[in-house]
Amino acid sequence: MSRLLIISLDAVSSDEFDHLCTYPNTKAFVKDASMNLSVQSVFLSNTYPVHASISTGKMPREHGLTSNTEAFPHHLAKWKIKESDIKGKTIWQAAARAGLSVATVFWPSTGGSKHIRYNIPEIPFMRNTNLPLAYLKEGHSALVLRMMIRHSRHLAKVVKALQPGLDSFITACAADLLEHKKPDLTMVHLTAYDTLRHKYGGDKQKLKAAYRSLDRSLGILRKAAGEDVTILILSDHGQFDVHTAISPNEWLRERGLLHKKGREWKKGASGCFFECCAGSAFFHSGSLRLNQVAEIKELVEQSEGFARFLTPEERTLAGKQNTAFGFAAKKGYMYGAEKKGDCSNHGYPLDYPGYEVFYGVKGEGFLPEEKRCGGSLLDIAPLAAKILKIDW
Ligand SMILES: [Zn+2]
Repeated sequence: MSRLLIISLDAVSSDEFDHLCTYPNTKAFVKDASMNLSVQSVFLSNTYPVHASISTGKMPREHGLTSNTEAFPHHLAKWKIKESDIKGKTIWQAAARAGLSVATVFWPSTGGSKHIRYNIPEIPFMRNTNLPLAYLKEGHSALVLRMMIRHSRHLAKVVKALQPGLDSFITACAADLLEHKKPDLTMVHLTAYDTLRHKYGGDKQKLKAAYRSLDRSLGILRKAAGEDVTILILSDHGQFDVHTAISPNEWLRERGLLHKKGREWKKGASGCFFECCAGSAFFHSGSLRLNQVAEIKELVEQSEGFARFLTPEERTLAGKQNTAFGFAAKKGYMYGAEKKGDCSNHGYPLDYPGYEVFYGVKGEGFLPEEKRCGGSLLDIAPLAAKILKIDW
């Protein structure tokens, strides 16, 4: 058995990873690692469903975590931060059951876990949420408190979820655990690139701070882990630049099917609504008649930014089989007007060129400088189990 460190570099596509490889620590890692490029992500290609798939080796249909948040109303909805939001076995549960010690630092959907010995869960920034209190409640509170005190110089950034400061805190906590607790399995989620890419779009000049931060984190974590720990790096989805945000729920409001007071949305008598997931959206038809659904479908098809309807298979694998229909935005467009400030987003179907991701492993049994193409993020959980020599 080898101890294992998994690092998720959120939103770095296979193409953008090439650019990250021009930075020294990533370059050195790739030289020592066996890399899989052009790896298929999972649909719905948003952070929480994909990380649940990475952690379980299953599609959203099976693990049940089908969106980052509750479906409606999107911008106020609760994020799926709890371990209990995932159905079925995760890699950290399998490791814990095999008697191994587990640490997770900002790994999605670990809140409230009884399996993770050292848990600092990810709590996305939400209005009216006291982030430090939420960390204490959902994580291992004594550990969270200790880390907040020990790495207090980053705390101002943590409270406001500002990047790349937040990743500095995450990296400091993970390095601390790797050095002092030596967990058998450590899982770390770094979001500087995702956050700054949403904010600035794909301009590499503006993203320098993000690339530098990820590379620095990789260097620190590798050093803290030492040479005996196998390191697996990966990403969850790509991102595409966006110039226009569309709000399909406004169409329902105009027809009296949804209501809005200030920023608050309310369902109408039929209960219908659009679940907006940036690169794609789904129509929950409630008690609408078939002809009304057909009318709305036609409206969608004629709207600006519409790319295509999702296939029944795409909807089913995404766990959205109970929706009336789903559809994807063209590149440059996204669904969900509450994200108007976003210059870039994800949630698109997997056939969009340039949307692939990557993973790579450095450690015993993996050939240095090896480069392969293909594979899927569903490979990660069984691969991690193999490295840890636990049943899967
Ligand atoms: Zn993500």
